[in-house]
Amino acid sequence: MSPSIFGARIGSSPLMISSSIFTFRSALISIIIIIIVLYLLFQASSTASSSKEDAFKLQIARLEATVKDLEVRHGKIHLDMAQNVQQVVSEQYAQVLSGPLVQKSYPMVFLMPAMMRKRILITGGAGFVGSHLVDALMTQGHYVYVLDNLFTGRHRNIEHWMGHPQFQFFQHDVIQPFYLEVDQIYHLACPASPPHYQFNPIKTIKTSVLGTMNMLGLAKRVKARLLFTSTSEVYGDPDVQPQSEDYNGNVNTMGPRACYDEGKRLGETLCYSYANEEGVETRVARIFNTYGPRMRLDDGRVVSNFITQSLQGLPVTIYGDGKQTRSFQYVSDLVTGLIKLMNSEYNKPVNIGNPDEYSVLNFATKIINLVNPQAKVKHLDGTQDDPKQRRPDISRAKEILRWEPKVTIDEGLYHTIKYFRSELKSLGNLPIDEQREMPQFTSKDVEPLWTAKSINDALTDSERGVKNTVSAELVGKRLERSSP
Ligand code: NAD
Ligand code: UDP
Ligand code: UDP
Repeated sequence: MSPSIFGARIGSSPLMISSSIFTFRSALISIIIIIIVLYLLFQASSTASSSKEDAFKLQIARLEATVKDLEVRHGKIHLDMAQNVQQVVSEQYAQVLSGPLVQKSYPMVFLMPAMMRKRILITGGAGFVGSHLVDALMTQGHYVYVLDNLFTGRHRNIEHWMGHPQFQFFQHDVIQPFYLEVDQIYHLACPASPPHYQFNPIKTIKTSVLGTMNMLGLAKRVKARLLFTSTSEVYGDPDVQPQSEDYNGNVNTMGPRACYDEGKRLGETLCYSYANEEGVETRVARIFNTYGPRMRLDDGRVVSNFITQSLQGLPVTIYGDGKQTRSFQYVSDLVTGLIKLMNSEYNKPVNIGNPDEYSVLNFATKIINLVNPQAKVKHLDGTQDDPKQRRPDISRAKEILRWEPKVTIDEGLYHTIKYFRSELKSLGNLPIDEQREMPQFTSKDVEPLWTAKSINDALTDSERGVKNTVSAELVGKRLERSSP
């Protein structure tokens, strides 16, 4: 039998030439048909994959909406029984497990050569200040370890780093010994808000004293540098204004604030004793009142109370006559100051605060005007040993660290109010007009000045703890969105 292509005979026939032409034509037609079929198949499959993608996105959106809805419902009920909490957690878990698997991506970090990365431990790193410090140091490209017992800190503050290869979280109480190999320790672990540190005064003392001793023991063993976050409370109810580092303070050893004030004073003494006797490198930051996003709704300090009360249309509570003064610093300024101090060669105490001073009454008026002019003021009894005045003298920080606060109160409050608004909204607890904005700052919304990247851009390599031995190109010039 003669060979054939698609049914047309070829071979010894007298009509060989016309048959070849015929064969060639049918082959061509067949090829065209095949191409068309393949094209149609390809079209069909890509439509299928894009509709698959759409379906996937839709599934994720539905899942997010359901979880959000659950959060709102659960936010409204009382989670005071272990059984309720258990139920909430299992419901949310079930929702997540039934959804699609989503690969986690992380915020941008600078690429730093491995040999230059420091291993940095932050105790209290899941708290308000600590979590912003975590963001800044992660963005720099260091290895960051967080030790926190989650007393006032929250998983949520650091969850965007969970699983990152340069990050690790240890749920641990600092009053228990802790072993890790590190180069630097930022020691923040300690409740900072008066209602929180007065909740269990003996625990606060143990945290300040035993916790600090453990961290100094760790620093001594591994030859790490330790920065201790002390406080303006070491000046007590001061009889000088402003307070400079040379002022020795006026603290009542028996009052409700003593557990915190005296705990921090002893913490400082421990730092200087370990420095003098054991050669441990220590740094002491005396922090003045600080505010910003990630403060808890139930924090109890003046900024968070006044904002959340005004947002909910509740009366703003003033303790006493409101003539006592405070000076307020935005959290990004504090973080920059802490990093600079850690990497400086100066070991005496340094005040880190903003000298912008307000009476509590004037501050209440300011918040009310910004948030909700309908809100009323309510005077409650004053609290015992409440310092009557507080304003930092920051000449030392200016001279030694070349540091001073940059964020104005209006800008800082803008970001803080925005944060509390969204916290309350997610709980379905925001009766005042959601659209009410503070127009003078809306233009800065896109990239606020306080992001971890902008904190890092404000520092030199040596202030970041990076020795200038490699070219600037290698350090801190490339950003990478890391997803291991
Ligand atoms: P915060 O309460 O938000 O953070 C403290 C963190 O320490 C929390 O995450 C908490 O869970 C953790 N912690 C408490 N006890 C612990 C323990 N025994 N073991 C392990 N972890 C523990 O407070 P903050 O405002 O972020 O303050 C951070 C540090 O700065 C504190 O040391 C505080 O004294 C100091 N400080 C803060 C201010 C301020 O205005 N925020 C002012 C002066 C000093
Ligand atoms: N410590 C710690 N981690 C370490 C080293 C020490 O938690 O890596 C604790 C240790 O348990 C001790 C405290 O730090 O309670 C003080 O240490 P130091 O060496 O000064 O005291 P010592 O162990 O000699 O009593
Ligand atoms: N304060 C107030 N109403 C509040 C919370 C605080 O009047 O709802 C006052 C408090 O009495 C103190 C000042 O605001 O005089 C600052 O209090 P905060 O607890 O924020 O910090 P402190 O500097 O006292 O540690």
